Amino acid sequence: MTAETKIHELLALEPDTPLIERQLILAHVLNKTRSWVIAHDLDSVRDATYSAYKERLTRCKQGEPVAYILGYKDFWRHRFAVNAATLIPRPETEILVEAALAILPNEPNTILDLGTGSGAIAISLANERPAWYVVASDFSADALAVAKRNAKGTKKITFFQGDWGKAIKPNSVQLIVCNPPYIEPGDEHLAELTFEPSSALISPCKGLHDLHKVIKEAHDLLSDGGTLLLEHGYNQQDALLELLQNNNFNHIQTYIDLNQTPRAISAKLI
Ligand code: GLN
Repeated sequence: MTAETKIHELLALEPDTPLIERQLILAHVLNKTRSWVIAHDLDSVRDATYSAYKERLTRCKQGEPVAYILGYKDFWRHRFAVNAATLIPRPETEILVEAALAILPNEPNTILDLGTGSGAIAISLANERPAWYVVASDFSADALAVAKRNAKGTKKITFFQGDWGKAIKPNSVQLIVCNPPYIEPGDEHLAELTFEPSSALISPCKGLHDLHKVIKEAHDLLSDGGTLLLEHGYNQQDALLELLQNNNFNHIQTYIDLNQTPRAISAKLI
């Protein structure tokens, strides 16, 4: 292509890639918004833009998630930086934010996000509930670095590095929120998730190992009447009901995602 290449010609490349992804990638390369790209489709772009766009489009075609190509993902009300050290926040995980906001009022409470990754859940909650004191932990120092960057300007949030709740004081938390790895090793969906950290996705024992661990730890970390709120896989609700009941949790509530799939569960320690 020449210096005369027009935006609509660039957007016509790789038609098998969803148009919204092509628009977002081009907007990113041009340092403009997606609406700007749509409104300027007759503008010409420079050769450097063309090659930068083409390189990213090829990565996208090869399966790299758009969020990693752009370096961000929008979640709840914010834009979160992401990289290969963090899971890309999913729309269904917004259920955890919505449920957490409904579980506790905006009063001084300690909320713990275990395995915070990019910080999406913890930061969204801290921004929605200024009276809460939000603590977020992750085992991965690289993920925590991303979360800390995302938390810039967010008040009342503290980060810990540690294996689940090990660094947290017992009986000190009113609500634990957690989106642990829960995909069974060998699950066919993993073939599409090869760019994301497997430690954030895969868990042994039919995907239940980490969920079980968090349930046991929550028992020690929660104060009386505290709530545990977990995201889980599409086929794990029954196993979790049993695990929660066997660990003295009650007032169990289940949540479905936008695809009508059971996706989260909460329970109280009373
Ligand atoms: N919900 C994600 C997926 O199915 C997995 C997230 C997780 O393991 N916590 O792609």
